[in-house]
Amino acid sequence: MVVDKAENLEKFMEGVVERNPGEPEFHQAVHEVAMDIIPYIQDKPRYKDLRILERMTEPDRVVSFRVVWEDDVGELRVNRGFRVQQNNAIGPYKGGIRFHPSVNQGMLKFLAFEQTFKNSLTGLPMGGGKGGANFDPKGRSDREVMRFCQAFMTELHRHIGPDTDVPAGDIGVGAREVGYLFGQYKRLANRFEGVLTGKALEFGGSHIRTEATGYGTVYMMEEMLTHHGEHIEGQRCLVSGSGNVATYCAEKLIAMGGKVLTLSDSNGMVYAPKGITQDQVDWVKELKTVRRGRISEAAEEFGFDYHDGAEPWGIEADLAFPCATQNEIDGEEARTLLKNGVRGVSEGANMPTTPEAISLFSEARRMLHAPAKAANAGGVAVSGLEMSQNSLRLQWSESEVDERLRKIIRSIHDQCVEYGVQSGGHVDYFKGANIAGFTKVADAMLAYGVM
Ligand code: NDP
Repeated sequence: MVVDKAENLEKFMEGVVERNPGEPEFHQAVHEVAMDIIPYIQDKPRYKDLRILERMTEPDRVVSFRVVWEDDVGELRVNRGFRVQQNNAIGPYKGGIRFHPSVNQGMLKFLAFEQTFKNSLTGLPMGGGKGGANFDPKGRSDREVMRFCQAFMTELHRHIGPDTDVPAGDIGVGAREVGYLFGQYKRLANRFEGVLTGKALEFGGSHIRTEATGYGTVYMMEEMLTHHGEHIEGQRCLVSGSGNVATYCAEKLIAMGGKVLTLSDSNGMVYAPKGITQDQVDWVKELKTVRRGRISEAAEEFGFDYHDGAEPWGIEADLAFPCATQNEIDGEEARTLLKNGVRGVSEGANMPTTPEAISLFSEARRMLHAPAKAANAGGVAVSGLEMSQNSLRLQWSESEVDERLRKIIRSIHDQCVEYGVQSGGHVDYFKGANIAGFTKVADAMLAYGVM
């Protein structure tokens, strides 16, 4: 019997949408995975008949809670916190915490679902989770951020633990917030244990954790280029964002001989035709993490062009690194990138390309396009290494961690090639990452029986 794959996908997605109304990012993330997995499991009854994909789209649990805190003028503020514990088939739930006004349950479900596949690809024993709150740290004093983090952790602490669920940072949650969150957990639990990753070096953090996501995004691009007989050296690169992932992506690109033309934030984009230097990247890091300013200030300081409200995708370049947020490259922007000759996209942010953009890149065939679950897995990989170091009560050297990170990214690349190579040698990195990430989690779930 000829199986109609499109019909199966459509039916499957109808069920997902019906069970999860009003969660468009979650639908998009599931659709992107199901497109590859449904054809793959068609002739594999152990996955298909036992409804493994359907089970994987249903989180183990979602916790939602009230966070009440006091601002600097004594007003009470009320936010909503969440933790989505998606899947712990291959290890404790693991995934970041996001503080951003746009946070809601559907957004965190998309991130937790993606995280499950990403963590599987790293080869480390980590399940998938994600959390956050609709709190906007922008414009808040240090004391307010501290009080919010303490109130958030006062509820969250009962749901996490080093063998249960190990959160980390994400948008709006950097070293400062992880410090406040870890401090409050330690106070409530009366235990010093590796319950959060992304900690400072003084209290159990790992070398290279801060840098890992951005570095890994560049290592993934280098792996893809090497596989096709090229290198980063001398290539003109577009980077979006100016937060953790973007600045360390820019730093590694510069170190490997790439020319970084752009950075951005939610207000606009800076363009440096001669390339941004390491000193300038360091200045931007300080701007964003200490002074908490806008990227336009970098243009004033260094004489870059500033484009208010713009993203980097219209600038002519060779490679693109979306490192800001979801859906930042749409169909129109993908066409522009292709027209301008861009031949590689490595996703630092989670789900930064819309479905239309993904299919345009895929149709172009010459485009090397690494999905977030492969390209930004470096962050969670070093988080996994931080967990190992915490369990061993050891701290590995910077070079040792960086070497392990490179090896993990190389192995992720190889898994993508194994499952994603097409006739003619073109590698479909999305397909490769989805299938490789899926099989390990699915096999573990099958081993546990029906649950
Ligand atoms: P940061 O908060 O450090 O930086 C986010 C950057 O993106 C800022 O420059 C911010 O601008 C910009 N940004 C945020 N929202 C928007 C928006 N709606 N439109 C345009 N720009 C926006 O976060 P991270 O660097 O940690 O995270 C960036 C991405 O990488 C996210 O998708 C995250 O999930 C992903 N990621 C992060 C990991 C990590 O280890 N940190 C690990 C894996 C993935 P502004 O300053 O104006 O807010």
